[in-house]
Amino acid sequence: MRIVLLGSPGSGKGTQACKIITKYNIPHISTGDIFRDNIKRQTEIGIEAKKFIDKGLLVPDELTLQIVEDRFDQPDCAAGFLLDGFPRTLVQAEALEKEMISTGKKLDAVVNLEVNDDTIIRRMTGRRVCSKCGATYNLMYNKPIVDETCDKCGGSLYVRDDDKIETVTNRLKVYKTETQPLIDFYRDRGILITVNGEQDAEVVFQNISKALEQF
Ligand code: ADP
Ligand code: ADP
Ligand code: ZN
Repeated sequence: MRIVLLGSPGSGKGTQACKIITKYNIPHISTGDIFRDNIKRQTEIGIEAKKFIDKGLLVPDELTLQIVEDRFDQPDCAAGFLLDGFPRTLVQAEALEKEMISTGKKLDAVVNLEVNDDTIIRRMTGRRVCSKCGATYNLMYNKPIVDETCDKCGGSLYVRDDDKIETVTNRLKVYKTETQPLIDFYRDRGILITVNGEQDAEVVFQNISKALEQF
C-alpha cells in the first residue's frame, strides 16, 4: 500500500498514521518528525528547517524533497509507505508523481482528513508530545494517565514550539494557500478519499479502513 495523509495541521494525521501503519505493516514517513529529529540532533538540515518551522512557514521544497528522497532510498519503503505531512505543495506533489512514475510505482490512495478551524485550534493548543518516543497526547481528548508523562515509555511530555497560538494561526493560513490545492490535484487523479476527521479517533480510523478496502 502507498498512502498519503492530507489534512490541515492538527487534523489528526499523526494519530491516524500510527493506526494505519500497524494495520498495513508499512513504514510511517512523517516529514515533520524527520525535521524534529534533525532539530534535536542539531544537524545542518535541522538548523535550516527550524528557521521556517518556528514561524509557522513551510520548509522550502528543495530541502523537503531532499529528506524524502533519502527516506525513499531506505529498503523498508520498497513494498509501500504511509506519507504523513508530505506532499504539502504542488511542487512536492508533482515531484512525488515523477518519482512514482520513474520507479514504476503508484499511489493507492490519498486520505484527506476534514476538520474545521475551531477544532484545529483547540486540538493544537492541547497537544503534548513525548520527548523520548514522540507519542502524541491531548490534554482535552487523549490525556496521559500520569500528568505530563508518556503512558508508553515514561518520557516527559512537552509543547511543540510551533503549537503556540500565533504560529498555529499562521500554519492554518499557509495550509489554505499552499496545501489545500492538493485536494483537487488528487481528486482529478481519482484517488482521493475524504473522511470526516471531527469524530472520535477510533471512528475516524474505522472510516478510513472501510474506504481503503474499496481501493
Ligand atoms: P502538523 O501536521 O501539525 O502541521 P508536522 O509535524 O507535519 O505538523 O510539520 C511540522 C512543520 O514541519 C510544518 O509546520 C512545516 O514547517 C514543516 N514541514 C513538515 N512537512 C513539510 C513539508 N512536506 N513541506 C514543508 N514543510 C514541512
Ligand atoms: P497532525 O499530525 O495532523 O498535526 P495529531 O495527530 O498530532 O495531528 O493531532 C493533533 C492533536 O489532536 C493531538 O493532541 C491529538 O492527540 C489530538 N487528536 C487527534 N485526533 C483526534 C480526534 N479524532 N479527536 C480529538 N482529538 C484528536
Ligand atoms: Zn514516550
